[in-house]
Amino acid sequence: MQIREIIADLIHSYQSVSDVRTIQTIRAIAVEKIKQTITGDYPEIDVLIEYALNDHLRHGTADKLFANLKSDVIPFAQPSKKQVGKVFHKIKKLKVPDFETIDLRECTFVGWNDLGTRRKFMLYYEDDQLRGISGDISSTVVKGFCAICHHESNVALFTAITKRGSEGQYTKKGNYICTDSMRCNQQLCSRTELDDFLDTIN
Ligand SMILES: [Zn+2]
Repeated sequence: MQIREIIADLIHSYQSVSDVRTIQTIRAIAVEKIKQTITGDYPEIDVLIEYALNDHLRHGTADKLFANLKSDVIPFAQPSKKQVGKVFHKIKKLKVPDFETIDLRECTFVGWNDLGTRRKFMLYYEDDQLRGISGDISSTVVKGFCAICHHESNVALFTAITKRGSEGQYTKKGNYICTDSMRCNQQLCSRTELDDFLDTIN
């Protein structure tokens, strides 16, 4: 839930910046970011923005706001094992995660690692269609910037194997991404970031 971070930054600015014009600019950027993060019409977001514009906003109030907001956020629709199997039909012995243990309200995509085969799987929706990408994930974890969420994180080299064009050539592309996809989701600012990443892969 990236909005939490935007608001936390904003509160920090309210407490540390005294220049009114600077605050106005920071505020405008924050509102813009919130709108980019949650697209669509949600009255809860308007309430949130209204609160965010109040420079007396403090962390306690913001936390209460988030508790309300979270229950209203549309979760990642839980797919059935069969649907997941269909997305990754080429993978033998696919390990499907237990979606009950994942907070799908926090997820823009669902990603998991198969430690045995050193593969990473990611599910996402595109025009309400469940899609997925998979690839090798290196066992070496380093500190670096993630190609999906753009945060400094524990990342590993992810090499996706994708089919390009009708000729069926396979291409390999390597990117450093968060090993922990749950964390990646929490650090993700907007759906656009995920789409940009997918564009470079597909
Ligand atoms: Zn990430």
